[in-house]
Amino acid sequence: MVTITPDIKDKIEELRREINYHNQLYYVLDNPAITDEQYDRLLKELLEIEVAYPELITADSPTRRVGGEIQKGFKAVPHRLPMLSLGNAFGEGDLRDFDRRVRNNLPGEEIEYVVELKIDGLAISLWYENGLFVRGTTRGDGEFGEDITTNLRTVKAIPLRIAREIPFLEVRGEAYMSKEAFVKLNQVREETGEQLFANPRNAAAGSLRQLDPKVTASRNLSVYMYGLGYMEGLSVTGHAQGLALLKELGLRVNQQHKVCKDIDEVIEYCQRWQGQRFELPYAIDGLVIKVNSLDQQQRLGATIKSPRWAIAFKFPAEQAITTIKDIIIRV
Ligand code: NAD
Repeated sequence: MVTITPDIKDKIEELRREINYHNQLYYVLDNPAITDEQYDRLLKELLEIEVAYPELITADSPTRRVGGEIQKGFKAVPHRLPMLSLGNAFGEGDLRDFDRRVRNNLPGEEIEYVVELKIDGLAISLWYENGLFVRGTTRGDGEFGEDITTNLRTVKAIPLRIAREIPFLEVRGEAYMSKEAFVKLNQVREETGEQLFANPRNAAAGSLRQLDPKVTASRNLSVYMYGLGYMEGLSVTGHAQGLALLKELGLRVNQQHKVCKDIDEVIEYCQRWQGQRFELPYAIDGLVIKVNSLDQQQRLGATIKSPRWAIAFKFPAEQAITTIKDIIIRV
């Protein structure tokens, strides 16, 4: 039996306190004090202790909750299907472990993966009723999102009407700010003595969670939609097919994605983008790997925090963005 010493309990509490503090800065105030790599390390350390001492896991541990919150001033809207986080893979070994877990859960089945760029912005959910855009929310705490419909209406890349009158369609994606728009915005803020945004992700999140939609409209945001959520009157069998449908409906879909027949192809595609990420006009913090078949996705299911059929491949720390100066040069 493993002995739980007061030191372990203190360490867990200290890590949870620290992570919750950084969650507040990042998700609520859009103003992080540490890099994502530093944050991921804290979370990994906590997770490792919790794996070793499962009796110390609590329901409110940051390892078991989607990080965001509903900010004051926004209406909370329940998601029809939870909006979850993603598990992390920090290298080839973690990707192979993910593939092994998927295969163990689906013995003998062929598995195809879709790999997409992980745009570093803010997750959004758009509802279309009979083809019309009726509501847009943030991910919030995963169960409830913040109603930011009015702000999202100002984003030109979001169609107010899609190409087909589907009774109900929820589409999920990422709202982001291009590197160019981010640098320009920070230049203006510097001139006017306002606080600078740490990175394009925080700039996008801060721009969307504004009580005045005119501010959002002035911020040059865009979106890439990457998935279907709850829907009525539509049937899709594969994720890649879903992406093609989104495009056909007039939604903006990132064309840099690939269907891979095995994990070797996935790894190759991830490595390619690791080298090319700085050539993109927008920031990415990794790639997302998803099982293509929706039937397999459903059978794999999800943990309390993230789906078992997807994982985020995070770029290694040596390419980390550490300072505002770095960002201006490298994003
Ligand atoms: P995550 O960012 O690792 O993954 C989930 C998110 O990925 C989704 O909500 C979605 O917004 C996004 N995404 C982008 N492209 C996607 C695609 N093609 N398909 C699916 N999803 C896509 O998980 P998280 O829980 O949102 O946040 C954790 C991240 O936030 C980590 O990178 C962490 O380092 C960072 N964080 C940093 C701090 C800090 O203080 N620096 C604090 C909290 C969180």
